[in-house]
Amino acid sequence: MDTRTPQQRHKNMAAIHSKNTKPEVLVRRYLWGQGFRYRLNNPRLPGHPDIVLRKYRTCIFVNGCFWHGHEGCKYFVMPKTNIDFWRKKIQRNKERDKEEQRQLAKMGWHCITVWECELKPKVREKTLESLAYTLNHIYLEDRSVKYKLPEENEMQIAAESFNEQ
Ligand SMILES: [Zn+2]
Repeated sequence: MDTRTPQQRHKNMAAIHSKNTKPEVLVRRYLWGQGFRYRLNNPRLPGHPDIVLRKYRTCIFVNGCFWHGHEGCKYFVMPKTNIDFWRKKIQRNKERDKEEQRQLAKMGWHCITVWECELKPKVREKTLESLAYTLNHIYLEDRSVKYKLPEENEMQIAAESFNEQ
């Protein structure tokens, strides 16, 4: 029997959920390999987007299906205990996600959400290819629209190398 409180359990799951989770790394590795350059977890943008592609005016959020309440997803399964706690918690997350993306859109950013389930081995390639396609599409579209944004010169392009494996 699991005797931990919902809060304790939440803490443990939050640790698993922490940044640099595998799904996010998958997306970054693919984008990097395709020549996209990005920054990570920009603290100056609402919601600290996981991946920020300034050239494409795009923020990418790599969302866990449980934590962000992926509707209609088979990986979004409510725990059998403490249902109220989880329901409220997930609802808050979803509302926060929506509000952050609304703010980003107001600032002229495109937001793309990649769900964890879309990165499962069987569908991963398709997801990533369509992500690259979307980014290129956004880039072309944006060339016909002038965006004015303050420069963020002090921010460094994330220098990442993927020779870790
Ligand atoms: Zn999902």
